[in-house]
Amino acid sequence: MDNTSASKVFKGVGASKGVGVGRIFILQDYGSLVSRKALPDRPEAELLRYRAAKERVWLRFRQDAAHIFKELGPGNGNILDVHALILKDQVLNQEIELLINNGKKAEVAVETVFRELSDRQKLAKNEYLQERFTVSRDIGRQLVIELLGVHRLEVVRGKGDVIIVARELTPFALAEHPDNIKGFAVQTGGPTGHAAILARAYNIPMVLGIPDIEKAAQDGAQAVLNGSTGELIINPLPEVLADSLRLRDRELVAADKARAENASPQTKDGRRVDLLMNIETTRNLDVSNANGADGVGLFRSEFLFMHRETPPTEEDQFREFEKVAKAFFPRKVVIRTVDFGGDKQPPAGLETGNSSYSGLRGIRFCLAHEEFFETHLRAILRAGAAGNVSVMFPMVPGLETFRKAKALLKKAKDKLEAEGFKLGAMRTGIMIEVPSAALTAGALAREADFFSIGTNDLLQYTLGIDREDSSYSGYGLFLPPSMIQLVQLVVESAHERKKPVAVCGELAHHTLAVPLLIGLGVDELSMDASHIPATRHDIRALSYAACRELAQKALALETPAEIRELLKNALK
Ligand code: PEP
Ligand code: MG
Repeated sequence: MDNTSASKVFKGVGASKGVGVGRIFILQDYGSLVSRKALPDRPEAELLRYRAAKERVWLRFRQDAAHIFKELGPGNGNILDVHALILKDQVLNQEIELLINNGKKAEVAVETVFRELSDRQKLAKNEYLQERFTVSRDIGRQLVIELLGVHRLEVVRGKGDVIIVARELTPFALAEHPDNIKGFAVQTGGPTGHAAILARAYNIPMVLGIPDIEKAAQDGAQAVLNGSTGELIINPLPEVLADSLRLRDRELVAADKARAENASPQTKDGRRVDLLMNIETTRNLDVSNANGADGVGLFRSEFLFMHRETPPTEEDQFREFEKVAKAFFPRKVVIRTVDFGGDKQPPAGLETGNSSYSGLRGIRFCLAHEEFFETHLRAILRAGAAGNVSVMFPMVPGLETFRKAKALLKKAKDKLEAEGFKLGAMRTGIMIEVPSAALTAGALAREADFFSIGTNDLLQYTLGIDREDSSYSGYGLFLPPSMIQLVQLVVESAHERKKPVAVCGELAHHTLAVPLLIGLGVDELSMDASHIPATRHDIRALSYAACRELAQKALALETPAEIRELLKNALK
């Protein structure tokens, strides 16, 4: 066997489960497509060519956004909004047109300006700007591709089953992909990035963080991508290929069965775990796409404020909240008050102070902007007249902050009632996202109606590792002992007061984590609707008694690796 056909295994981070089999297709980096040789004779014609290409890309962004809404429902709604805004940015356009007027070809001008922008963003201290660098690079790439007349993922259409190998993959590229793509093996990116969220929602296996894969892979080679183990096997041995095909077929059958199943999400011995849905927008809200969700467990209301020239008024907000409340009635809808800060910037005109992940974030931002908060609470309270709405506050560190937020809620309610609004009681909950809240859950449980554990942030703040950092999953830290102990403390404290506990972070649909969370006594799991069928299927195969035993064993372990091993063995 010569070297080029030797079987090789590459390890990365599994970001979307499942097994894909196909031939390797290496996506070229767009920069290498741009030839800088010939200069255009007529800048005017080049300018027109640029503007027409920009319009076509703009139209495609809009079509892709509509496509994402249609296919994936509201949860992933505005992933492409930021792309559209950057594409229309006046300063960038002026820079590009200036280069074209100075004699550069359109694709060279675009590539230069967007490369400089994304390089600046990559080096920025501000995390929000840093995150934008892949978006900028993606837009530059789309424009160049349009100008050159080649399409990225489109190029594989009709080429049989393929595994895409790329240095980097963006949500834009994924939004419209041919069906013959069976997997993505990518050098960069983290599992909580939007490309990974879309791959999971589209059920395409994905492995991220494979070093130098673009150089190591051979175009056209047979490959197996396992998004569950995080492996890419190039030129698999015949028996490995046969095993992988069997595994793939079994998973496809299981997924189809899970989707068709609308039985109650309860364990074999009768413990029901409500499955709710996380949403970010009300656009294209269609309850028939909710995969049988028991309601909305987390409405990330800050997304209503994104990409608008002016913040939504009380009336605007009220209409959005009411739309969700009515769509799901009588099922419950939990509206989280806005969680600005970190990667979600507040609307223009409001003093942000330090709005990093550990700055003026979540409820702290609202308490610093009482007038703004009052308008927001009024809209939520008015929507609550429907009877199925609860409110919860993000990033609450302890009792004092919760009391302040509750006092403002009461004040807003009293005022509305004095104005003649008829409002019922509104259940008020706390997101447990910082260790401080988890450690004082006993006191919080006395005064809150429910808890929802935001594991994305709770992990980030417990471990001191940025949630967007891909090395995070590389360390295999997804369930450290500290996290299990915190969840147990929160559940025990809540249950002592007969208050329910949900989990609404990404752990809520993690196959390994679900039995443990149930065993620890979590009452509800909330997730993107796309994950509900598989999670329901998982729950129906579990025994609550075994989950409880598993949780007790996990609580006695001392390292994340031991815990992972225990959970993996339990699944077998
Ligand atoms: C969380 O932190 O787990 C959570 C659900 O909130 P978000 O992801 O919006 O920060
Ligand atoms: Mg959070």
